[in-house]
Amino acid sequence: MSFYSTNQQTPHVSLREAVTKGLADDNGLFMPLQIPELPHSYFEVIQEKSLPEIALDVSATLLRGQIERGVLQEIVEESLNFPIPVVPVHGRIHTLELFHGPTSAFKDVGARFMARLLAYFVKDSDKELTILVATSGDTGSAVANGFLGVPGINVVILYPHGKVSDIQEKQLTTLGQNITALEIDGTFDDCQRLVKQAFLDQELNQRMQLTSANSINIARLIPQSFYYFHAYAQVKHLSERVIFATPSGNFGNLTGGLLAKRMGLPVAKFIAATNINDIVPEFLTSGNFNPRASTQTISNAMDVGNPSNFVRLMELYNQNGDAMREDVIGYRFTDEQTKMLMREVYENHGYILDPHGAIGYGAIRDYLAMEPDAIGIFLETAHPAKFIDVVEEVIGQKVTIPENLQAVMQKTKQSTRMSHDYNDLKTWLLARA
Ligand SMILES: *Cc1c(COP(=O)(O)O)cnc(C)c1O
Repeated sequence: MSFYSTNQQTPHVSLREAVTKGLADDNGLFMPLQIPELPHSYFEVIQEKSLPEIALDVSATLLRGQIERGVLQEIVEESLNFPIPVVPVHGRIHTLELFHGPTSAFKDVGARFMARLLAYFVKDSDKELTILVATSGDTGSAVANGFLGVPGINVVILYPHGKVSDIQEKQLTTLGQNITALEIDGTFDDCQRLVKQAFLDQELNQRMQLTSANSINIARLIPQSFYYFHAYAQVKHLSERVIFATPSGNFGNLTGGLLAKRMGLPVAKFIAATNINDIVPEFLTSGNFNPRASTQTISNAMDVGNPSNFVRLMELYNQNGDAMREDVIGYRFTDEQTKMLMREVYENHGYILDPHGAIGYGAIRDYLAMEPDAIGIFLETAHPAKFIDVVEEVIGQKVTIPENLQAVMQKTKQSTRMSHDYNDLKTWLLARA
């Protein structure tokens, strides 16, 4: 099993190369050349397996021949050392709580797995590796946490000034050690563009070994399929039709779900749920993919105007939009609607949603109205305390801050302010090469 680039202009590569490069030389994204299916019998016993056991079975099947099972086992056990429970909200609606990791967002899953895989692949190298990561809020801290203190690896985080929450900013800027935060005068799209440009800059790449940790890295994508299997295992006794709603921005999380389906997971439907940055829902209804500048919303981690993983979605469906429409339906919600959903769910059911999860909730609620026998799971992608200002204002209640977030709030921010001009980033990086 090897990996190809979605642009088809480079030779196939090993897992090691795909993970250390991040982006292919032709600027495409890596995809597995074959996607093997787990046998049907696997899904008859899946409820007896733990999350790390499922993760090992799935990853060993997909990555056959690329890494030893024993190494993989250690990596999944260390990466998934926190629970990912399915919690009933009301009626047929459940939530998959993905926020019990160290940075309280779902990105911990992908980031921890990737960090360990990468550390394994570079452990014998004498070259320092620099990881560039653009973040709309949660990626940066999850990735940085995953790599904190790993010898031979430096992490440089680019985040948009003024566009992440206070807690998120503290999480990005207070780690120290091998982690540096750059505060960019621009949007998340600017940060992402700067990172992509750096990877394509030959001069820079000769001077330093750069890699990516965004959801474009295949090692972040693969583990994001694990918890769909785990969630299915927890609810399969309730209905034959299981539906997932995934709050989406760059669409790595949803791609993880669709990868799970390709590997045999019997999911009836996936919902691509977005805020008003609804490029993919629009594609699903109109057939037109129109990337545009992102608009700021209260679900800021989904303020993405040009979702990178769209090309992977298209690859999974052999460039056939109609085939994708059989599996995926899009929903979008404005900030006002999102707030109403948060208020409603808190007042009627006592569950506190964060703004991202609220969009998943709204989508599954509206969709289930058309499917009386199905069970719905929306992914709760962050702990509500990460967005405490808006959450407390909307529900009129104090939110309890988990200990890991309280600790980070006490620390002092350390960041370097920078323009969104690529030359400034390049000069800064070269000075450190
Ligand atoms: C990153 C993020 C998302 C979007 O996930 P994608 O994989 O980029 O679609 C949703 N919610 C939260 C809280 C996030 O941090």
